Amino acid sequence: MTALLLSRRGARITAVLTLSLSLTTFTVAQTRIVAPKNKYSVAEDVKLGREAAAQAKKELPMLNDDRVDDYVERIGKRLAQAVAPEFQHPEFMYTFDVVNQKDINAFALPGGPMFLNRGMIEAAQSEGEVAGVMAHEMSHVALRHGTAQASSGQGAQIGGILGQIAGAIIGGTAGSIISTGSQVAAGAYITKYSRAYESQADILGAQMLARAGYDPREMANMFKTLAEEGGARGPEWLSSHPDPGNRYNAIVKEAAQLRVQGNANTGQFSEIKSRLAGMSPAYTAEQIAKGQARSNPGTVATRAPINVPPPSNSFRTSQPLNFMRLSLPSNWGEVSGGNDGVTYAPEGGYIESGDNSAFTHGFQIGVSNVRGSGNLQRDTEGLIQAFARGNPQLRASGNYARDRISGRNAIRTSLSNVSEVTGQRESVSLTTTQLSDGRVLYLIGVSPQDEARVYEDAFQRVRQSIQLSDR
Ligand SMILES: [Zn+2]
Repeated sequence: MTALLLSRRGARITAVLTLSLSLTTFTVAQTRIVAPKNKYSVAEDVKLGREAAAQAKKELPMLNDDRVDDYVERIGKRLAQAVAPEFQHPEFMYTFDVVNQKDINAFALPGGPMFLNRGMIEAAQSEGEVAGVMAHEMSHVALRHGTAQASSGQGAQIGGILGQIAGAIIGGTAGSIISTGSQVAAGAYITKYSRAYESQADILGAQMLARAGYDPREMANMFKTLAEEGGARGPEWLSSHPDPGNRYNAIVKEAAQLRVQGNANTGQFSEIKSRLAGMSPAYTAEQIAKGQARSNPGTVATRAPINVPPPSNSFRTSQPLNFMRLSLPSNWGEVSGGNDGVTYAPEGGYIESGDNSAFTHGFQIGVSNVRGSGNLQRDTEGLIQAFARGNPQLRASGNYARDRISGRNAIRTSLSNVSEVTGQRESVSLTTTQLSDGRVLYLIGVSPQDEARVYEDAFQRVRQSIQLSDR
């Protein structure tokens, strides 16, 4: 009884809110949307989405670029504030992440986590088009379409839905290449909404855009832009968001009823597009499915350059790996370590923020977890490409010099980079050699460009001191 009373009172308050909103915001009546029946609780949406998002971040290569993430977040936050009051759930948390994937796709999980592929931003012709995709996705979340669809299914259990969402991420969204049998069905079950739900997301999305300060017709344009991309099958996103019929016209018709509230355009669209264009290529679904994709390490907080003490002339010995010994300046400490590598840096030369770390001065030893091809130069080029994914400003000189590490053949090359930390040019020297198990050992010395001479001397002494005992 209490619950019934509460919900009736809730309904009345919602009605008042809607009425006042329609008086102040809209001159003509917008289409009224009613969320479909749902037997799950709002808390279950939140839990499902949180678990699936954690899974998605593990499975998908995240772009982890502060500027691109901030941009998408800025648009997303504006949209989240424009969710119609009757569909706002205080428990929901809208988050926005960019996946370093080429395929034109985007998806949002129950409770709010949204993932946008880099390819989607690259395909868009304006910020409004990006906002259009996001508003459409956010509408599915606000209307709780994921769990509503499960409610109408054949008695799907909550655990089953999580599996289906994971299936959607792995099978339907990220890598259609591995979507065989049940995974296709599972992926389709949750990502491919009914045409009625698509229609709702289009209309609610258009209303959200107008309230946020974007022209809702941009969403219609985005569907047109996407229809022209991606070959015969069209982009993945269109196949998981089927045309409810007359989509373009229906959105434009709704747009005619709406008044755009202000102007949300950030003016950063072209800057973000050229930033993306300057990065090494995004991964394909096939690379992701084959396990060849990695998340970028992410960016760290920036700071002005500081004075870091020069390498000490006295050296001490250390054992970074169980088959490796070396000597290094006694004022360098071990700042991060693990099974696959160690970084040594002077005080102030190493910065950690959250999950990310970077060093401006110091020496890193690592072992590539990919078995080498036997051709050291080719493997080194592959390694540089991998580094470049996390360091978009990294430039290779292309010159390789023969070197020796612990009596075996090695090659050395110099690279230049713009420090993520200081924004200043830094010089990077990379030396590689092969281990007995075929993997590549790499040694990286980093210093600001104007301190490179002093540091290169120290790096040379460290390299010459290395003793390997892996064979
Ligand atoms: Zn949709």
